[in-house]
Amino acid sequence: MCNTIKEILNQKTRLINKHLVVKGWVKHKRTNKLQTFVIINDGSTINNLQIIIDKEYKDINLGIYLKIKGLIVLSQGKQQPIELLAQKIKIYGLFKSKDFQQTILQPKQHSYNKLREQSYLRFRTNFFSSIMRIRHNVSYLIHQYFHTNGFYYIHTPIITNSDAEGSSNLFKVTTFNDLNDDFFGENAYLTVSGQMHAEAAALGLRKIYTFGPTFRAEKSNTPRHLAEFWMVEPEIAFFNLTNNMFLAEDLIKYIIKNIIILSQSDLESLDKQNLIFHNLKQILNKEFKRIPYSKVIQILIKNGYDMKWGQDINYEHEKFLVDIYFKSPIIIFNYPIDIKPFYMRKNKDQQTVAAMDIIFPHVGEIIGGSQREERYKILLSQIKYFKLNRTRLEWYLKTRIFSTVPHSGFGLGFDRLIQFITHMKNIKDVIPFPRSIKKIYT
Ligand code: ATP
Ligand code: MN
Repeated sequence: MCNTIKEILNQKTRLINKHLVVKGWVKHKRTNKLQTFVIINDGSTINNLQIIIDKEYKDINLGIYLKIKGLIVLSQGKQQPIELLAQKIKIYGLFKSKDFQQTILQPKQHSYNKLREQSYLRFRTNFFSSIMRIRHNVSYLIHQYFHTNGFYYIHTPIITNSDAEGSSNLFKVTTFNDLNDDFFGENAYLTVSGQMHAEAAALGLRKIYTFGPTFRAEKSNTPRHLAEFWMVEPEIAFFNLTNNMFLAEDLIKYIIKNIIILSQSDLESLDKQNLIFHNLKQILNKEFKRIPYSKVIQILIKNGYDMKWGQDINYEHEKFLVDIYFKSPIIIFNYPIDIKPFYMRKNKDQQTVAAMDIIFPHVGEIIGGSQREERYKILLSQIKYFKLNRTRLEWYLKTRIFSTVPHSGFGLGFDRLIQFITHMKNIKDVIPFPRSIKKIYT
């Protein structure tokens, strides 16, 4: 029999007196002339297994991978119910303990910066393996939520020729410098959002979502921005902005309610300051307050911020609104046309669009979404107003020609959600291999 440590520990005392093969690497070692105590972990869980060897074993260094055959017995200590009496040991790969000292694997407190510099080893640290298991569970919950609610998972393209956000932070995809020789024969980019393709899908499949990587050449190096990040984008036909707000709040609360249970031991292990569970439960207890943009501007002005209608709301404002003024997550809606992308639905006032941003404590904006402009003429006039390349958007306009319907959707920043859940200071510490300005972590 060969099991992961998670599977072994889950069986509790039922395995006592059974012979097992266990594999993992050494987290801790203590030895005397008669016995060696080795604590191993294999990443399947935050919890470890203690191995007892009835002799002094000098070759076993910290970090080394082992295969141990032995007998499960009741533990003498209180940490775990069971431990393994080793009978046969195989060491997989020896290394010099001097080299080991240069790595983040040596057991001492390292700064998150230092840990990031060895991202390829980071998976073997306690904090990061916990984050990776939480990240997995959140992905799983997202798929579960959408699947049980009748959404279909659509893979939108990563290479595109249109720019959904009308932004200047596109990465170009090319094989040559000369456009005529180039692979696609036209400009191609890494996608900044799957939304426009998601709309086409929703107009045929009604309720869909995408969950994939997106790319933005974010010039500023903030603790909340990555150049490559993951986005969850539901898109629904026959759906207005109010429906959209309910869906977004329900999705987030579903994830948080369930991750508390599903990732309990990993969250506990990360929760050094007793903040995480508190923060998560706070979110569940509160309705997300819905405030129109114009009201937000009034509030900011009243509270001493130098603001004018039409200006964008920045992180400092978001912090004030969520942490101090409302003390809850908020949904800001109906933004001025000029600070939002062309595809958002124009409101009757002709000055605002049916946009919504959800602002959270700690991470700021976690969701951006809108009702889409489904009316052909207005969509076309918006494309002209923003001086966008109509040829590139012709296919998108056509989705409004053969009948058309109100539809809505949003983008949830997956990494920001993980950052919120784990309360990490920097978003680079919740993704396996971060990419950011001037830096590709390997
Ligand atoms: P911000 O103002 O924080 O840069 P944005 O307005 O550019 O966000 P959207 O275009 O609405 O964001 O994208 C949807 C969601 O994707 C955001 O609410 C956020 O959670 C996430 N997101 C956006 N840019 C990044 C990034 N560079 N790194 C990580 N997540 C991001
Ligand atoms: Mn941005």
